[in-house]
Amino acid sequence: MDFEAFFEDKLGGLHKAGNYRVFADIERHAGGFPRATRYRADGSTQDVTVWCSNDYLGMGQNPLVTNAMKEAIDRCGAGAGGTRNISGTNHYHVLLEEELADLHGKEDALIFTSGYVSNWAALGTLAGKIPGLIVYSDALNHASMIEGIRHSRCEKRVFKHNDPEDLRRLMALDDPAAPKMVAFESVYSMDGDVAPIAALCDVADEFGAMTYLDEVHAVGMYGPRGGGIAEREGLMDRLTVIEGTLGKAFGVMGGYITGSRALCDFVRSFASGFIFTTALPPALAAGAAASIRHLKASQLERRRHQDTVAKVRRALDSHGIPHMENPSHIVPVMVGNASKCKWISDVLMESHGIYVQPINYPTVPVKTERLRITPTPMHSDADIKHLAGALSELWSQCALARAVA
Ligand code: PMP
Repeated sequence: MDFEAFFEDKLGGLHKAGNYRVFADIERHAGGFPRATRYRADGSTQDVTVWCSNDYLGMGQNPLVTNAMKEAIDRCGAGAGGTRNISGTNHYHVLLEEELADLHGKEDALIFTSGYVSNWAALGTLAGKIPGLIVYSDALNHASMIEGIRHSRCEKRVFKHNDPEDLRRLMALDDPAAPKMVAFESVYSMDGDVAPIAALCDVADEFGAMTYLDEVHAVGMYGPRGGGIAEREGLMDRLTVIEGTLGKAFGVMGGYITGSRALCDFVRSFASGFIFTTALPPALAAGAAASIRHLKASQLERRRHQDTVAKVRRALDSHGIPHMENPSHIVPVMVGNASKCKWISDVLMESHGIYVQPINYPTVPVKTERLRITPTPMHSDADIKHLAGALSELWSQCALARAVA
């Protein structure tokens, strides 16, 4: 087989369909977020303002976090030195797991190398090792959950997005004696909508099912201590597993699950994605713990963040730029056309120094192509005015419809 020709052919298909992903080469400015330097392919550079980062609160640049990481490197070096059970468990990992269990009001926590791996490994292990388990999965669950469930080879039913009635209908069709799990997210990353957690837990309780909640886009951001939507709504004890990331609002990297001591010990003991991989660098664990500790105590970042989100929405409204209404911090600006979406993103970057990645199919359905804007507390009023003005100009150039106030 001519492997190179095969690769080129497949890539050509992505280009033709407009789905080829471009990776902007940027360097974030320490202490200067959301500013970054963009490196063009020809070697030249450009100063840009980042509007699509998941470092939602700028904690990745916060000296509390970066200093904790530097201190940990000075104390114990760069890498963990092994898998968790062969010399790789560093005291910083233990402290971080204690911090996470406390954040979500659970007995224990387990960290993984990313949020993706935590979903894949935990769901794959739970669903794969509990005999006869049926998993009910929200239709818009993240790829990492889908892959974990698929990997487990368990029975799976997909319920309509955020629809407890559809979940009940599906659960009622199955053997009442079969063990069951309901897996869903709190804040959905592309539409920014929020799950009816209590109603989904009610249905799960009716059928004696365990519940698995991905709070990746909510931890650090919602709830009095940043424990997520479940904390804000007083529902943490209704969830068997709360999963999260250290790579978004906490500003570092890594993922985790929290749950009962036995459940975490079970995953720790049976998940190959936990056992057979090098532990996170201790400095990452130290930085994440510092970030979590700070966001448990401080409301300032969350409050400022919500203010900026509201200002961005108002600025877009004032220009009639259509954006999806939702109760979260994610502002999807709806373009509805793949090539126009990419063109606007390119011109925003090249002519206005504004970096927003276009989101096209298959990440979102065709005709719902969008610019996913993620404001942070560090975006200034001038940044917001600049963004809305530039979008307005490009909206006219593309002859796109405006929203009516
Ligand atoms: N769950 C959801 C809902 C996500 O959106 C993502 C990543 N965007 C992940 C899990 C994976 O988290 P991480 O980036 O830490 O791997």
